[in-house]
Amino acid sequence: MEVYNFSAGPATLPNSVIQQIKDDLPSYKNSGMSVMEISHRSELFEEIIQQAQQDLRGLLQIPDNYSVLFFQGGCTLQFSAAPLNLAIKYHRIALLDSGHWAIRAMEEAKKVKTTVDILASTKKNHYSRLPTLSDFPQDEYDYLHITTNNTIEGTAYKKIPQIGQTPVVADMSSNFLGQKYQITDFGLVMAGAQKNLGIAGLTVVIVKNDLFAHAKNLPSMLDYQLFSQKNSMFNTPPVFAIYVAGLVLRWLKQQGGVLEMQKRNQKKSNLLYDFLDESKLFTAPVKKADRSLTNVVFVTGDKSINSQLIAQAKDYGLLNIKGHRLVGGMRASLYNAMPYAGVEKLVSFLGKFEKDYWGKH
Ligand code: PMP
Repeated sequence: MEVYNFSAGPATLPNSVIQQIKDDLPSYKNSGMSVMEISHRSELFEEIIQQAQQDLRGLLQIPDNYSVLFFQGGCTLQFSAAPLNLAIKYHRIALLDSGHWAIRAMEEAKKVKTTVDILASTKKNHYSRLPTLSDFPQDEYDYLHITTNNTIEGTAYKKIPQIGQTPVVADMSSNFLGQKYQITDFGLVMAGAQKNLGIAGLTVVIVKNDLFAHAKNLPSMLDYQLFSQKNSMFNTPPVFAIYVAGLVLRWLKQQGGVLEMQKRNQKKSNLLYDFLDESKLFTAPVKKADRSLTNVVFVTGDKSINSQLIAQAKDYGLLNIKGHRLVGGMRASLYNAMPYAGVEKLVSFLGKFEKDYWGKH
């Protein structure tokens, strides 16, 4: 039976990438060593990291005045690193409260003595839509923090909110490389790799050089200047995660790049949203214009039906469709590596489940 993994992250990888890892594992490029065993200072690894950075720059059209940095510590560590490196003039940032990860970013920024002003929030709407800026803020901010795709609540920005010249810092973890944005709309983009770029242990930061040039005396592992100077190899980088990211980036190029991925993600998510909108049993609670292409949230309004559905789906090879514990219900994550056939199978299963349900009720 074909199994599809709808997990929000760590998430499904392309089959060809898994195969390549398997082939490379015992002896990378006939070196007699696996990638896990080679020095990060070796030529073999130098080539891996250079190629990955180059491919990422090409795929996202990253201008030369932006650095591409590789960190450990997950996106969560960047919730501290971004204010430490960037919020050094006003020690004050603006934030759009679009859900759980925006609030987490706020909490971490406050811990490093940054004042955070929430300019808009959709908490009262249970985050079923995106906050937007209505007034131009009076205060001055080092940056505006947004979450481009809200993994838990299932919303995503198509147009990036801006406040004048204030840099935008974006947590793009869950639609990085899956939805097309202009890098020049952002001062900084942060993204954990374990959704669309490979495996946990690697976080990518794309940041405009002049924004971090004045930070001083930061802990080394949080210092953008240092990581930029050392090409992300101040200490031992997560070599295996960078190697896997390199394979995923190569796969992405072969598939046609980010715009092609966006088209496919749009097609996949439309198939599921169209079914949900027609259904009399399931509801997609997110406002249509704000719906995520990569994380589709849906509910039945009855916890016991949800549990039955999740259990039956598993038996059918449709894994990890349980919603996040904070919102309940179901969630299907449709990242780049999820094939259209996986969504077809999910929709056909949901249709059958609904038919059986109405047969009994
Ligand atoms: N931001 C978003 C949008 C996320 O989805 C996640 C993880 N699910 C995080 C931040 C936290 O990332 P990490 O676990 O890599 O720290």
